[in-house]
Amino acid sequence: MVKPISKIAAAIAPSVTLAISAKAKQMKADGIDVVSFGAGEPDFNTPENVKEAGIQAIRDNKTRYTPAAGIMELRQAICKRMKEDLNLDYAPNEVVIASGAKHSVYLSIMVCCDPGDEVVVAAPYWLSYAEMIRMAGAIPVEVHAKASANFKITAEQLEAAITDKTKMFMLNSPSNPTGMVYTKEELEALAAVCEKHGIYVLADDIYCNLVYDGISYTSIASVSPAMKEQCIVVNGVSKSYAMTGWRVGYTLSNATVAKAMASYASHSTGAPATMAQWAAVESLEGEQDSVEQMRQQFELRRNHLVERMNKIEGVSCIKPQGAFYVMMDMSSFVGKTMYGHVIESDLDFAELFLEKALVATVPCTAFAAPNFLRWSYATSMENIDKGLDRLEKFIAEA
Ligand code: PMP
Ligand code: GLU
Repeated sequence: MVKPISKIAAAIAPSVTLAISAKAKQMKADGIDVVSFGAGEPDFNTPENVKEAGIQAIRDNKTRYTPAAGIMELRQAICKRMKEDLNLDYAPNEVVIASGAKHSVYLSIMVCCDPGDEVVVAAPYWLSYAEMIRMAGAIPVEVHAKASANFKITAEQLEAAITDKTKMFMLNSPSNPTGMVYTKEELEALAAVCEKHGIYVLADDIYCNLVYDGISYTSIASVSPAMKEQCIVVNGVSKSYAMTGWRVGYTLSNATVAKAMASYASHSTGAPATMAQWAAVESLEGEQDSVEQMRQQFELRRNHLVERMNKIEGVSCIKPQGAFYVMMDMSSFVGKTMYGHVIESDLDFAELFLEKALVATVPCTAFAAPNFLRWSYATSMENIDKGLDRLEKFIAEA
């Protein structure tokens, strides 16, 4: 009999977000009228100029291997865009292209953490973080933001979680799933703690272009030179340019970390697809109007969703400042019976909501935020209304 798979692999839970969006897509393909708020990906198409650049790259036979860290043209375009958008100063040898920001997060953890190291994660957090930390044999340490603090952790909470085993702190602002954005002052306070302990900071800035209400965005890497040295900034083209399927993400870090990440990638994946890298060059260097147009659409959808949701009896949400997620508090239903089932958690509620009302959402237990459901508003206004109509009916008729 064949031996078991590795202990690390056996302990990995599959991605709930990907599983739910796959299930909703399958239900739709089967002719079921499901409305999906599961997928965390823009519903917009990749801008035309970017698609053309990908096609042109194939025609120009840009179809061969590239350096493991990615093509120089893309690394240069990233440095320019990051300077312009986030006031971050990096050189091309400090940039590593990876197969999506997810892969960038993974490479960062694998390169910085040894088995047994602790990684402090601001919770609620994107569910893949904890699994990736475990895949490195490291230990996730959750610091729970309070709802009363707008789901943002404080410097005191961070300080209390750090031990001599702590190697890294992971922060995602705007956050998936809360949508909250840390202010410059809040980041400075967190940075001071990280500087004191000399730990790496993984700053997942993937939603940096999606902020609302005219607030300005600060990357934690920009708050001090010491922070820049300790930071690994993760970003990518998936969310800002509606390019989730192209699989291009990147990191900005000090040159030692960047070199190690490129070596790691050179033996595992190699660089992402060459034509996708060329399309990414165009996304960053070409016209940026579509980024703003998509951002404005998301803001309108957020306003509408939040306003209507807060009028529905039994549920509520705070108004997120960025990304494209709303966390709906459904705790008032815990312990109640709906459609003959006792609701014990967000998982029960989400399952019943999908089964009875044909609405797909993500239970936030997966994000370390029990009794909330995540709604992604990366879907049309029409679908948003359809989903909320169904929510009203689902609750009223339970
Ligand atoms: N970070 C966060 C917080 C995300 O929500 C996502 C979405 N998948 C990613 C990273 C990864 O994005 P991608 O791999 O599509 O570039
Ligand atoms: N990050 C997105 C989400 O949270 C995409 C799905 C995934 O990659 O997990 O839904």
